[in-house]
Amino acid sequence: MSVDVVVIGAGLGGLSAAAHLVSQGYRVLVLEKYLIPGGSGGYFERAGYRFDVGASMIFGLGERGTTNLLTRALASVDEKIPSIPDPVQVHYHLQGLTVRVHRDYEQFSGELGDRFPQERRGIQQFYGECWRVFNYLNSMELLSLEEIGYLTRTFLQNPGACLGLARYLPLNVGGVARKYIRDLELLRFIDMECYCWSVVPAARTPMINAGMVFSDRHYGGINYPVGGVGQIALALERGITRLGSQIRYGAHVKRVLLNGRKQAVGVQLATGETLMAQAVVSNATRWDTFGRLLTADEIPGAERGWQQRYQKSASFLSLHLGVYQSLIPVGTDVHHILLDRWADLEAALGTVFVSIPTLLDPSLAPPDRHIIHAFSPTAMDAWRGLDPAAYAQQKQAWADQIIHRVSQILPGLKEAIVFQEVGTPRTHRRFLGRVDGTYGPIPRGTPLGLVGMPFNRTAVPGLYCVGDSTFPGQGLNAVAFSGIACGHRVAVDLR
Ligand SMILES: Cc1cc2nc3c(=O)[nH]c(=O)nc-3n(C[C@H](O)[C@H](O)[C@H](O)COP(=O)(O)OP(=O)(O)OC[C@H]3O[C@@H](n4cnc5c(N)ncnc54)[C@H](O)[C@@H]3O)c2cc1C
Repeated sequence: MSVDVVVIGAGLGGLSAAAHLVSQGYRVLVLEKYLIPGGSGGYFERAGYRFDVGASMIFGLGERGTTNLLTRALASVDEKIPSIPDPVQVHYHLQGLTVRVHRDYEQFSGELGDRFPQERRGIQQFYGECWRVFNYLNSMELLSLEEIGYLTRTFLQNPGACLGLARYLPLNVGGVARKYIRDLELLRFIDMECYCWSVVPAARTPMINAGMVFSDRHYGGINYPVGGVGQIALALERGITRLGSQIRYGAHVKRVLLNGRKQAVGVQLATGETLMAQAVVSNATRWDTFGRLLTADEIPGAERGWQQRYQKSASFLSLHLGVYQSLIPVGTDVHHILLDRWADLEAALGTVFVSIPTLLDPSLAPPDRHIIHAFSPTAMDAWRGLDPAAYAQQKQAWADQIIHRVSQILPGLKEAIVFQEVGTPRTHRRFLGRVDGTYGPIPRGTPLGLVGMPFNRTAVPGLYCVGDSTFPGQGLNAVAFSGIACGHRVAVDLR
């Protein structure tokens, strides 16, 4: 098949870009090295359980506004998936501080105000600023910020929102929070509110992302796809192929091919097969794209600049558990975050994330069972150079630590486990094709908000990047934004 665009990788970023391009009439070939789509937003099945690989707290599946980018990516290829609203985004258990983030904003901010009565006003002011950012974003169509025609159109339609957003673009959450809030414990709580998706504290988290996350959870809400998170990628695949484009699995791209003028003109697979296209979109991380798919002398200097500003975050130790249903009391929340000591916020195995998606969709497990996904950060360095026996031993020892921690909220967990699979940074590297299994980029120092984050174009003409190492960063809704923006940018260039 002759194609206009090759997309390397069928993660949610690559699929959203492909969907947008297909909806504009382009013929796209998506090349995925694994066997199914979704990447970190994919799934795997074992012993009657269907586990989410990573993401299970899903933003962006709401019905209204413009920030529901997963819904919009699906709609671009005439797809829609049923989902189940989650009444509580997350239940925090933080060194004696317990907070539940209700879908209802007034209930959340009211309860937080009850816990910090002296900061009631500051809480309203801080989250109020987040709402302001969100309302600006939610009043405009979200496309490529690299496309001058779109920017001009959007500015003429909504100059107030554009100027308002521009003001927030270089700001981080920490500075804004400290304008209104004095209480140290509350500021630490806001650090965790940021860390749990940006993997850096408030001082290094861009305000634009926080405006989106802290408001959309109450606006579009957190919604779990019926049948598991993998249904999003499967639906995008359905739409893309129904409209005449193609996804090939087991297709490992080894090289991006450049012509004599150093423009990307196609790719070469591990099998040696070459495929030509007018544009190449890479959903591999930016490190993998420029570190593996191009040779050292093909890497433009501008890329090195980005890598000086951003570094790879750690990966995760992930426990996928099947447990007896009786372990989990009725009324338990789906998502929990545990931290025993504030000082360990960013430490390996410091923060523990817990998801129990069968509380919303019991079909993911056999009858009388629940799924628990518990994960915590750990870097590749801790997993290098281990022989198979030492590796297996460390996996079990670290898994036991996490089980012990999760037992604080689910007493009797160890005895209730009937299935266990443990993933390490090596697993994430192997199955997701991500260098060191990284979760994504984090700023090396204090960033200028989102100003330094790269968009989709690269310094190699014809080569675009999409996904979590491009604006606006990690998370399924964020990479859908990146995908739609990338598709838009490529379509304009091809025209
Ligand atoms: C444990 C964990 C929990 C998370 N929880 C949440 C959550 O609750 N909510 C949320 O919104 N986000 C969450 N995230 C983050 C979210 O999953 C990611 O930010 C997002 O899925 C990244 O999407 P992507 O398209 O950028 O990349 P990926 O998902 O990494 O997809 C890239 C794809 O490209 C393929 N690929 C790479 N190189 C090649 C090559 N050379 N040839 C062919 N194919 C290639 C890979 O196989 C992969 O399928 C979580 C992530 C993890 C790891």
